[in-house]
Amino acid sequence: MDSMAQALDGHLRDTRHSETLLNNQLARQRLESEMPLYRFGFGESPFPVPDRVISAMHKATHRKEYSDVQGLLELREAITTFHNSLEGHKWKPDELLIGPGSKILLFCLMAALRDADVLLPAPSWVSYEPQAHLAGHRVLQLPTRPEHGWQLTPQSLQEHCSSREPTTRPQILVLNYPGNPTGQSYSENDLEAFAAVMRQHRILVISDEIYGLLNHKGEHRSLAHHYPEGTIITTGLSKWCGAGGWRLGAVRIPPQLGRDYLQRVIGVASETYSSASTPVQLAAVTAYQHCPDILEYVCAQRNILSTIGNRLAAQLSSAGVRVAQPQGGFYLFPDFSPLAPRLARRGIHTSQQLTGKLLQDTGVSLLAGSAFGMDGARLTARLAYVDFDGADALQAGRANTQRMDDGIERLGDWLQDI
Ligand code: PMP
Ligand code: GLU
Repeated sequence: MDSMAQALDGHLRDTRHSETLLNNQLARQRLESEMPLYRFGFGESPFPVPDRVISAMHKATHRKEYSDVQGLLELREAITTFHNSLEGHKWKPDELLIGPGSKILLFCLMAALRDADVLLPAPSWVSYEPQAHLAGHRVLQLPTRPEHGWQLTPQSLQEHCSSREPTTRPQILVLNYPGNPTGQSYSENDLEAFAAVMRQHRILVISDEIYGLLNHKGEHRSLAHHYPEGTIITTGLSKWCGAGGWRLGAVRIPPQLGRDYLQRVIGVASETYSSASTPVQLAAVTAYQHCPDILEYVCAQRNILSTIGNRLAAQLSSAGVRVAQPQGGFYLFPDFSPLAPRLARRGIHTSQQLTGKLLQDTGVSLLAGSAFGMDGARLTARLAYVDFDGADALQAGRANTQRMDDGIERLGDWLQDI
């Protein structure tokens, strides 16, 4: 080892390439080498950004100045009006912080606290746990069950809280619904029951509602209605507006948490990303202007996604895989456990082995359940159903799902042959 590398030896953090982004990179390489690929690994919206939002971006490209760290007031006003009128919130623009994607905002929220316990349902989205560790927190996984669609229940949260040793460490629960990777959501009753437990144990909740507008029935309700004092909401343009690569997210911190916390989070933002891109923020103002055509665009996405998700879930069920019908977003979380004895005969005992062998044999790319905090021995995987032409689908009112159907057929044949 050369001497500079030696100087770092033993001092490297255990940070790895995020599994989602790595999967996307490997998928590109596979396609470039003309290897077969059925792309269910990466969760990126297939729908186009609306034309008038793109025009707004074109018009703003000369705006080269930094914005305030907190984000353009005009944008915070537009987001406030949008979410207040659609979801019945009472947000004020000065409670919001804008960032280049909600992912970095999730990190800022964690980094602005010291010595917390971060509670994560298993499974939950890939980046929460590494971010919590980077911010120096302890991570506690909360178990879920297949019969609950792998979602946390108020009862299991209560069990966790009642059995933990007394501590003064703050507890932060990250709740994400509609869920990545589960595709499931929470009912109004669930949210109410959760709120009672959260209030009793003074849990700070980061409610990741980035897929909220993509609830397939348009029935997303925010936890903030039941637990206003302890609910922080993250959201952004990546999912409902098809603009993941534009990098625009927002967080709303409730005033009940005190001005200090918001200021500390803005402090972390100021020392890390400075501000979101100004042209992107100006384009986002247009995206958030609450026009009927935006709602029409979102409703069309919901119908298309719901049809595809239900179809693929039915196809997977007939192949012997356990999977819940999706309720929102664009993910399924199939459980191959019913086929475990047969998979074991092929030397497949973990979710990583399952997705690795499946990719190698068929070109079907899924993400292993272990990437989402699941026990590796449980044969789960995430399937993102986004490999279709979103612009065509919006125009026709339905998607051409040929590539995905072929992929599921290959998966089914592979399972038959093992
Ligand atoms: N939360 C969840 C559950 C996600 O799937 C993603 C992936 N895009 C994010 C947060 C981060 O999204 P972004 O940074 O693009 O706003
Ligand atoms: N949220 C997307 C996914 O889960 C990818 C984007 C990311 O991980 O930053 O696949």
